[in-house]
Amino acid sequence: MKKKILVANRGEIAIRIIRAIQELGYTAVAVYETPDNDALHIRVADEAVWLGDGPRTDYLNIEKVIKAARKVGADAIHPGYGFLAENPDFAKACEDTGITFIGPSSEVISNLGDKVTARRIMAEANIPMVPGTQNLKAGDQGVDEAVAFGAKYGYPIMLKATAGGGGRGIRRVENEDQLRTEVHVARAEAKAAFNNDNVYIEKVVLTPKHVEVQILADAKGKTVHLGSRDCSIQRRNQKLVEIAPSLIEDRKLVDKICDTAVQAAKAANYFNAGTVEFLVDKDMNYYFMEINTRVQVEHTVTEMVTGIDIVRTQIKLALGKELAFNQEDVQIRGFAIEVRVNAEDPQNNFMPEAGKKVTVYRSPGGYGVRLDGFVYQGYTIPEDYDSLLVKMTVFGFSWNETVDRLRRCLANYVITGPKTTIPFYLKLVNDPDFQSGDFDTSFIETHPELIDYDEQGSEVNKLARLIAEIHFEGENKYAI
Ligand code: ADP
Ligand code: ADP
Ligand code: MG
Repeated sequence: MKKKILVANRGEIAIRIIRAIQELGYTAVAVYETPDNDALHIRVADEAVWLGDGPRTDYLNIEKVIKAARKVGADAIHPGYGFLAENPDFAKACEDTGITFIGPSSEVISNLGDKVTARRIMAEANIPMVPGTQNLKAGDQGVDEAVAFGAKYGYPIMLKATAGGGGRGIRRVENEDQLRTEVHVARAEAKAAFNNDNVYIEKVVLTPKHVEVQILADAKGKTVHLGSRDCSIQRRNQKLVEIAPSLIEDRKLVDKICDTAVQAAKAANYFNAGTVEFLVDKDMNYYFMEINTRVQVEHTVTEMVTGIDIVRTQIKLALGKELAFNQEDVQIRGFAIEVRVNAEDPQNNFMPEAGKKVTVYRSPGGYGVRLDGFVYQGYTIPEDYDSLLVKMTVFGFSWNETVDRLRRCLANYVITGPKTTIPFYLKLVNDPDFQSGDFDTSFIETHPELIDYDEQGSEVNKLARLIAEIHFEGENKYAI
């Protein structure tokens, strides 16, 4: 019987996964909430199940998703990223129902989703990491512990939600006074955002690079890495631009980080695809940060430089196949850059622009560009979800060629209706510090001029007007 896989997600990642399922010759089942009635992932799937009115609550409803999977007779569920992807109860519910969860076991997800437990496992395996605390005790005792840490290691320090993710629940604290108030605030926030009020402290790594390593592991414990990614271009601890491989000049160091990532995965009994995240300081010391137990948004850059289809491999591993290749078979070739094209107005503090209709959509094409998105001309972006529209990934033989290609593709990209991050990336790609390849997580705050552009007067805008005339003004004067 043809295998059936349910995709418990929406947007670009649902489509990405459906493509892999269909390429394998399996049946892809989508799920959706009412605000997604017009969504593309429902149209491209072979079957679709309505979960409820949402918004978000039904995509997050374990019982409803499992019920949908049983109803259609799904053999497996791919959770994508976000929503239920890192919820150990969801993986457990799949295990208990006999549905294959495409990811690691609920136990591994539970251990690694808790940053303090993950740090303990890594400390036992001698993986390098910054000094930090256990979960702070409740009430004033916790504040005392925090203050003692600050006195011992100095400021600034990082107050982190133990169950945090997606760049949320992280606060940098500059001094003891601030710390005394922030512990309570962070705890309340963590409770509201993650339904878990545990917080802990890490020493801040000053102006670090974020370097992460893609891991694949089969059920027999064979574990390989697919090289590194640089995700230092961040805003509010959230990634905007990702690059493969890391541009750190000392390639021996990068190899060492990759080997450490494999050790970290083994220490956690890791299975399936995952990402080990590190911070690298300016003296090139590196520190473990966390392991994400799912496919990462930025997996595309790794696919472009290794040729390995990570989502296809995830599915095959979950269905019991062994890794078909060894570490030495993985060859990194060229460079890839992904930019997250979000419906946001960079000039207005990156305010979401959702709720708007896409009036013109024309994507770039040609050599070396890949698009993972879900928008189409005439589509109204629902307001209820995140603002990622399309991931544009460009590939090139050298770093310079890749940057040149990114510039060309951004200049060819027309989206009107919602404002997007495209003009911001056009400024970025022309920035000499970006072009140098040597940047850290402070890049965006130290380059405020990136939002200084005139979208109306741009070349892209002229192209947009031309396309709008052809499509909407009816006179066909630029017939093609
Ligand atoms: P999340 O689970 O939200 O992804 P992470 O622990 O991976 O959280 O941290 C996200 C980002 O926050 C990092 O990429 C980095 O920019 C910043 N960050 C986290 N911990 C530290 C630290 N100890 N020192 C400096 N920056 C940090
Ligand atoms: P497939 O999914 O193509 O039937 P595999 O299970 O062998 O085959 O491979 C899973 C992924 O790993 C695919 O993206 C494939 O391109 C990649 N791959 C397979 N063999 C090798 C190899 N020797 N070196 C590098 N990558 C490989
Ligand atoms: Mg992270």
